[in-house]
Amino acid sequence: MKPFDYARAASVEQALAAGVDGGRYIAGGTNLIDLMKLQVETPAKLVDISRLALDRVEETEGGGIRIGALVPNSDLAAHPLVRGHYPMLSRALLAGASAQLRNKASTGGNLLQRTRCYYFYETAAACNKRDPGSGCAAIGGFNRIHAVLGISDKCIATHPSDMAVALRALDAMVVTALPGGEGRRIALGDLYRLPGDTPEVETDLRPGELIVAIELPAPPPGRQLYRKVRDRASYAFALVSVAAAVAVEDGVVTSARLAFGGLAPMPWRSAEAEAALVGRPAGTEAFEAAADALLEGARGHGHNDFKIVLARRTLIACLRDLTD
Ligand code: SF4
Repeated sequence: MKPFDYARAASVEQALAAGVDGGRYIAGGTNLIDLMKLQVETPAKLVDISRLALDRVEETEGGGIRIGALVPNSDLAAHPLVRGHYPMLSRALLAGASAQLRNKASTGGNLLQRTRCYYFYETAAACNKRDPGSGCAAIGGFNRIHAVLGISDKCIATHPSDMAVALRALDAMVVTALPGGEGRRIALGDLYRLPGDTPEVETDLRPGELIVAIELPAPPPGRQLYRKVRDRASYAFALVSVAAAVAVEDGVVTSARLAFGGLAPMPWRSAEAEAALVGRPAGTEAFEAAADALLEGARGHGHNDFKIVLARRTLIACLRDLTD
């Protein structure tokens, strides 16, 4: 690990002042410390935000909740408001990492964790995300865990978060604070950028911008689930995951929210799949149409071709379970 300066912030204002000149915010450190040990990331300064008063879950007007950016993943999963009104979020959190990591990992940090593409962590390998312009060892290499949607010829890495997939389906807004400004409210889907020609740029956050909270509107109608398909029962990243909320009246789908993990460089929401469901009888024909809409344009790179079939089957199985 390379030497770095360290500052502990006692307030958001202190954190912003310390972060404005390139300081890297750290809370649980469950991903960043690994990256620093491997020298994939070598920040000159860490700004410790773990003591800030951003660790509460509160109800908001309109029936939603506001989640402080430092709420630990385990606390969020167990919170009565989350378990009662947003069960897909609780399930997604509990499907991620290990109990020890969930105790330490923060909500804001979970959103900003980096891909687990093995070539990204191997500094001897070509990786446009770690070393722009060096190439992508996953394209033409071993790419079983890689993305099939939203990819480019520069990068095919997936976003690793389970929590973010559920938040995407729940229409989460990310609340930030900015040095010298008021901060912003960013729809979660607008927080992330697809790789295009610049896979090293992963989010729309500005220099020094700090995530302080995530807001959820009132829960969507209908039943919810989060299903994660992975190589082993715990402590593994998603090959495919589905966060879904579906409402049915008189046998017809009246509302659908569908988001996916393990398939794309960001938590992937499919408006096309949702549109293929709403207004149609809840049954195989509509479910297959939704899968077709989701996967139109999906492209594998050999080892990960199976994800296209797996995503189709997983989505259809989830829709059956939600509507039976
Ligand atoms: Fe790097 Fe992305 Fe290629 Fe992985 S998929 S090696 S992160 S450029």
